[in-house]
Amino acid sequence: MDFSFEQGPIRPPSEARSLLIRVTRNCPWNKCAFCHTYRGQKFELRPVEDVKADIQEARDIADRMREISWRLGQGGAVRRPVIDHIYGTDAFHNDSFRQVAAWLYYGGESVFLQDADSVIIKTEDLVDIVAFIKEKFPAVKEITSYCRSHTARRKSIEELSMLREAGLTRIHIGMESGCDPVLKFVKKGSTAADHIEGGKKIVESGISLSEYVIPGLGGEQWSRQNALDTARVINEINPDYVRIRSLRVIRGTTLHAMMKNGEFRPLDDEDVVREIRLFIRNLDGIETQIVSDHVLNLLEELNGRLPEDKDKLLGIIDRFFALSEDDRIIYRIGRRRGVYTRLDDLSRTKTYDALKALLEKYRRENPGSPGGDIYKIIDSYI
Ligand code: SF4
Repeated sequence: MDFSFEQGPIRPPSEARSLLIRVTRNCPWNKCAFCHTYRGQKFELRPVEDVKADIQEARDIADRMREISWRLGQGGAVRRPVIDHIYGTDAFHNDSFRQVAAWLYYGGESVFLQDADSVIIKTEDLVDIVAFIKEKFPAVKEITSYCRSHTARRKSIEELSMLREAGLTRIHIGMESGCDPVLKFVKKGSTAADHIEGGKKIVESGISLSEYVIPGLGGEQWSRQNALDTARVINEINPDYVRIRSLRVIRGTTLHAMMKNGEFRPLDDEDVVREIRLFIRNLDGIETQIVSDHVLNLLEELNGRLPEDKDKLLGIIDRFFALSEDDRIIYRIGRRRGVYTRLDDLSRTKTYDALKALLEKYRRENPGSPGGDIYKIIDSYI
């Protein structure tokens, strides 16, 4: 027994405390212009027996950890002394061991199935895998996976219901946009109609649905249409969650090359927030949790439930735009530096004064510049 099992590269931010079980490798589509996560990597289905062997390995690690806990007088629970022992002992210098330790420390109740679209495998195989997780870890309450709309659309409601009955509780879909010209431009490989059909099937099966949207993905050209069309598609689906992840154009992606050659003109931070405002304003008739849980979002505090929190969400955005231009720049610098998470942070005088001093220094040394290019300020002075 080598106490290790395979791990893929990513998981959604909301799955930070989940055990990661790799069901497939990489992405079956792998063409989205803004994405580089699996570039150059071939998509592969892992044999079900290999995935189950990994689950068994995780279970063996958990059993070993409980033995350690008893030895340390912790009654089988993975508390701080057990974590300290594991992280401080060379013999446990192993990513899988540490992952299971951290997972159990945080309750051991959720599992995320990697990689980008594991629902694509045969339904009976996924049912088998999910049931095996429940058998080996009866305390697990949530089992979740990424899935492309294209894949969800091809599953029947009966198949999705079988997955729910086996224990699959939530599907995360990277919708990105509900605007067909944008989806085509970024080579998403799914249309608005695919998103609607796939999303509605998941909702109907009773599996919780989380849709990721990327404000700014249509750049200057499609900003308004991106907001309106994406709201329309979300309204049709009525997912449990909408997760906002503002666009960042990553070096090495096709979108980055298109930005360099002028084919794609990105929005600045403030225009992205304007787009988000238009999007939220047009969400209607749904019961959905809006979540802004990504570091790329300027306003991370945009969290609330529709319909009741709509005015509150729009009010947060309006409060940002009611700030003076300097305060908006200062907030953006603070946010991008990771020292601000909400607008109230502007009242922390020491941090505010330090950021304001930076902005003034930049303006002194760059006469004529308003200072709106916050990345130049960050790169020059911080
Ligand atoms: S489907 Fe997802 S993982 Fe695959 S290329 Fe597109 S964004 Fe990346």
